[in-house]
This record gives sequence, C-alpha cells and structure tokens, in this order.
Amino acid sequence: MYCQSNDELNTLVNEARKVTKDGKVADYIPALGKADPNNLSVAIHYPDSNCISAGDIERKFTLQSISKVISLAFVLMDRGCEYVFQHVGMEPTGDPYNSIAKLETMDVAKPLNPMINAGALAVTHMIKGSNVVERFQRLISFIQSMADNPDIGYSKEVAQSEFESADLNRALSYFLKQHGIIDEDVEKLMDLYTKQCAIEMNCLDLARIGLVFAMDGTDPINGNHIIPKEIARICKTFMVTCGMYNASGEFAIKIGIPAKSGVSGGIMGAVPGKFGIGVFGPALDDRGNSIAGIRLLELLSNKYNLSMF
Ligand code: GLN
Repeated sequence: MYCQSNDELNTLVNEARKVTKDGKVADYIPALGKADPNNLSVAIHYPDSNCISAGDIERKFTLQSISKVISLAFVLMDRGCEYVFQHVGMEPTGDPYNSIAKLETMDVAKPLNPMINAGALAVTHMIKGSNVVERFQRLISFIQSMADNPDIGYSKEVAQSEFESADLNRALSYFLKQHGIIDEDVEKLMDLYTKQCAIEMNCLDLARIGLVFAMDGTDPINGNHIIPKEIARICKTFMVTCGMYNASGEFAIKIGIPAKSGVSGGIMGAVPGKFGIGVFGPALDDRGNSIAGIRLLELLSNKYNLSMF
C-alpha cells in the first residue's frame, strides 16, 4: 500500500520543508527569482483516479526543463526514433545542464542527450509546423492532452524574461547551427524554446502527466492512448539516466524512480506501473534541483520502497 491520505503526505512535506533554507531560487531567468523559496507542494496521482496532495497545491509554476522530456516524446512521435537520434544522442554527460563543453570536445557536435539544453534545443527544433505559433500550439495541445486539462497555458512574463536573457542558449544554438544539427533562425528557435519552458501548471497537472508516463503512455483514467509504449519507455529511461542533470546517478541510488526536474523547482516523477508524482519547491540545490523536492521524494521512496532497482 502506498501513501493514501493528504495528512500522511502533509507530514512528509513538513519534514522535507526543513531543508528549503539550504537552497536558493534560480534567478538567472529574472522572473523566476520572484518565487517564494519556502513553497513546497506535492500531488500523487494513482491509476484509479485517486489523487492525494499536500502544500500549496494551487500554485502554478513553469515547467522549464521538465518540458524537455515531453517535447522529446512529441518529437519522437512526429519524426520517429531513427531521425531524432541522428540529431541527439543517448548518453549522460555528467556536466551541468547548460554546459557547452562537450559539444566541442566530442567527435561530432551532436548533443549527448535530449535532457541537457543543447539536446533539448535540437529536439525543440524538430517540432513540426509551418511557423513558431503553430509549432507551439501543437506542443501545448499535446501537453493539455497529457494533463487532461485544456486550460494549461504559458507564462508570458517568464517566457519574455528568459528570451531576453538566454544568451547561453543562443550560443549553444549557433554552435548547433554551425555544425548542421539545426537549420533554423536562432531567434525563432529561442522564441519557441522559451515559450515551451514557460508552460505553466500546478503539481496536480504535473502528477497526471507523470501518471501517463508511468502507465506506458496511456491515461488510465480516461483510457486515451497518448504516447506509444515504446516512446514512453525511452522517455522514462532518459529520466533515469539524465533527468536530474548531473545529479542523476545519486538520485537513482537514493530514490530510484524515473524523474525530471526544472529550474523553476518542479519535479515530475513516474513510478512505473504505479503512479505519477508532481512536486514544486523553488529553492534549488547546487545542481539546480529542488532541494526540498528531492528530500520529499527520498522520504517517500524510503517509506514506500519505491526504488525500481
Ligand atoms: N529554460 C531553462 C534554460 O534553458 C531550463 C533549464 C532547466 O530547467 N534546467 O536554461
């Protein structure tokens, strides 16, 4: 039996919240710097539609890097594995998510995986559509279908703030363009990528998306087949090997579930065959993961034996 009551979850949230004081809100995207570092919320969505939650669960946050695993699923469905993996690799880097180093030192300029910024930019580039508006609309519709929530939108403020300060992502994109991995106007790619990262939801929506990944791409509540099983499997594998940036190994050992984090402080978990988890806690550790979010997942994993290993 897993966690069944809001009270039980609340006790774990209060315990995990103690570590928020050791973290720091990301402010390299200025709009993210406004978040309250003490926030911590969590939702767990079960396949029988039962959903338990604790903390400030109505609070919305932007997906940031969590969007990378969703855009990957979308692009794999759009273009097929062979094409996608000609443009982005499958190996963890051990470097920070925004590092440019390996692009130059590897034999080919192909980004090592889709969870680092360089790889995610290559993936976003592959989203089909005749212009940025159409490509973004296609992606957000897909995300709305995963969360079963047509009201999901994006934060114009966060998108604009990142667009104005994304010089490192521009540098990565120009590098990729020079080496033929992407071939579009970099400003258009920045527009699409920063909007993708600014897609906004609360932890209930995020848990529902995690549930779809956990259940092999099918939403067990409405029965919709959203992602082919094989693609859901690929995404969960990347979540294990690269989902928590250069802390993925430690996370696999201590917690042992497929998960993807973002610098806004969100973490999506997909416990295979069991449930989806959405966490939001904006105070980050030194590798850019939610410090209390990780603590909370560790408490949950220990208490309910969640590690898949
Ligand atoms: N939008 C952010 C960036 O590109 C996403 C990074 C993250 O969440 N780690 O820097």
